[in-house]
Amino acid sequence: MRAATMEGVKQPIVVRDLPDPKIEANGAIIRVEANGICRSDWHAWVGDWTWIGLEFEFPHVLGHEFCGVVEEVGHEVERFAAGDRVLVPFSQGCGACEQCLVGNTNVCENGVSPGFSYWGGFGRLSQVPLADLNLVAMPERMTFLEGAALGCRYMTAFHGVVDRARVSAGEWVAVHGCGGVGLSVVQIATALGANVIAVDIDPAKLDFAERVGAVETVLATSTDPVAAIQEITKGGAHVAVDALGIRATCQNALGSLRIRGRHLQIGQTGHDEQGLIEFPIDVMLGKELTVVASQGMPASRYGAMLNMIEKGRLAPSLLISRTVALEECGEVMDAMADYGTLGFPVIDRY
Ligand SMILES: [Zn+2]
Ligand SMILES: [Zn+2]
Repeated sequence: MRAATMEGVKQPIVVRDLPDPKIEANGAIIRVEANGICRSDWHAWVGDWTWIGLEFEFPHVLGHEFCGVVEEVGHEVERFAAGDRVLVPFSQGCGACEQCLVGNTNVCENGVSPGFSYWGGFGRLSQVPLADLNLVAMPERMTFLEGAALGCRYMTAFHGVVDRARVSAGEWVAVHGCGGVGLSVVQIATALGANVIAVDIDPAKLDFAERVGAVETVLATSTDPVAAIQEITKGGAHVAVDALGIRATCQNALGSLRIRGRHLQIGQTGHDEQGLIEFPIDVMLGKELTVVASQGMPASRYGAMLNMIEKGRLAPSLLISRTVALEECGEVMDAMADYGTLGFPVIDRY
């Protein structure tokens, strides 16, 4: 199969032929039709996340935000067959641990993810284990481009906003960082009836945030976001989201909350923080703040999100900024080093 391969940490991404994946008894081989390039791919490529045990053998095929068509299923698979169009949630379960048994497959004790635990969507074919548990049927009218957007950033935002932070109508939601996942949070929280304030250092990203629903924007290079949000909301946001995972966005999110507010951590840290960011403990006590974190989304929650997409209340396709060929993966990854991408770049030509 053709694949854009990672040959080593920060080494140029190379397009070449690799052996096709082998089918497992409970797995399905997916012919990838579209794959979003996510900041997590960039983190993996630059060698981050060794502090949570991430390590690759090379060559490695990244890509965890894809959808496609089932090419072949193992003999134990019952719910899917060759020719089915499927969505592939990146947060995949084992079906047998304590969390999987109660439906939280996204935080499975033995969880795996394409592009990290096994070869993913930067290749034409990917073998997804436990297909009955870990694949989701794709709605008939959905395009592959839109489907790709649902593999990581958009569903992570949905689970975070709906299931974890439990955003409700009329609340102020401050979104710190308007990359792909931040913009997804803006759109989803807006659809739930919240007033969303978008914060970023790039005016183009704030324009994008306004187009998908933000009612206020704060340019953090010229305005102190904490003071601005306290002022706009007259006492702080009900929910603040760190959608990037750096010290500034995380601490600004906490600072922008009102008394009894909820902090939602979606962004994963990078090289500078290596998983550790200081929290203002005394302020958190005084305000009785709640901190929740969010990781992917269980496949069983896709129905709720797809209902809203099918009826037009959510539109992930608006977040797709550009489509690229496999050969352009490296260029997109390079641009991510200084936050040079907008929305979701998606590979759709293999
Ligand atoms: Zn991702
Ligand atoms: Zn499990």
